[in-house]
Amino acid sequence: MELVEGVLSGDRRAIARLITRIENDGDDAHVSLAQIYPHTGRAHIIGVTGPPGTGKSTLVNELAKAYRAADQRVGVIAVDPTSPFSGGAILGDRIRMRDLAGDPGVFVRSMATRGSLGGLARATADAIKVLDAAGFERIIVETVGAGQSEVEIAETAHTVVVVEAPGMGDEVQAIKAGILEIADVFAVNKADREGADRTASALEMMLDLGHAASSSRRSPHGVVLHHGRLMEVVQQTSQSADGEVRAPHDDTLENSWRPPILKTIALQGDGISELMGAIDDHRRYLESTQELARRNRIRLANELEHILRDELTHRLLHDVDQSRLADLLAQVAARQLDPYTAAQRLIAGESHD
Ligand code: GDP
Repeated sequence: MELVEGVLSGDRRAIARLITRIENDGDDAHVSLAQIYPHTGRAHIIGVTGPPGTGKSTLVNELAKAYRAADQRVGVIAVDPTSPFSGGAILGDRIRMRDLAGDPGVFVRSMATRGSLGGLARATADAIKVLDAAGFERIIVETVGAGQSEVEIAETAHTVVVVEAPGMGDEVQAIKAGILEIADVFAVNKADREGADRTASALEMMLDLGHAASSSRRSPHGVVLHHGRLMEVVQQTSQSADGEVRAPHDDTLENSWRPPILKTIALQGDGISELMGAIDDHRRYLESTQELARRNRIRLANELEHILRDELTHRLLHDVDQSRLADLLAQVAARQLDPYTAAQRLIAGESHD
């Protein structure tokens, strides 16, 4: 309880300690998370992603400084799905955040893979809750654009900023199609370099092409729905403010936002206020169209489904007779049984025909 009180009062050591517990996946973290949960849901969660070297860290640093100048508290979570190191001790983070060091209105934390990518996404979502409950108004989640992590960040953030830069090879090739689907705002960073205009117009073109093509399956940031039952429930219960139930896919609503493309020079702090403006425009769009509530419901349904899956698997593996498990595994290894049937038998509590 002391830990929870510390978090709620914004105590940095308490925040750091709870995030470490989350990373270690202890049950005591779940108890604390349950206690802080009623205090969450206030922060604006901003995802920043894109290929390595485009200047994401520099840009996040500048954004954080700008929010501080506007007297807002900022939490930064740097997620690196490729690194096994975490705990806020990454040297690079310390260095790049040196402008913000000692400012009690800023909390920076690195998180890295400890096992599966899914585990990292869950730990990140929980770390966001901690910062949210601690009263940080803006929470920036920075991820390296590495495939699956982009999709997961899109499921976590309210507003996703995709950072590109000129000179990353052939522009159109370098911009992965998947990134178009999740971007709410584009930042073409390193605009001091030659080719920034070309990168920006390549993005414009891809938006023109992609906007129509992807519209029918966009949700929540264009992420194709891949979950079953829970998502159906969310879709069916989506209601507008006046209580009217909307059609599951209201394309006119979803497509009224076209991601703006902004040029920035993070190194010199150029274009940061425009970027902040675009991020706020997007938040206002989310709020005015009920899209914020819809995305929150989808995000929570996703989270609940992941937790259920983990819990049920954990419980099943814990309860199962070890010799039965070994027996089924041996049958699978001997090609006498396929893994699907083995799983079914495990669930049904049998090992033999
Ligand atoms: P990240 O890998 O995307 O996080 O990129 P970093 O923020 O680490 O930046 C990569 C390199 O690009 C660093 O050497 C930065 O100093 C540099 N950089 C960042 N922003 C700019 C910019 O606007 N212009 C130029 N020329 N270089 C930049």
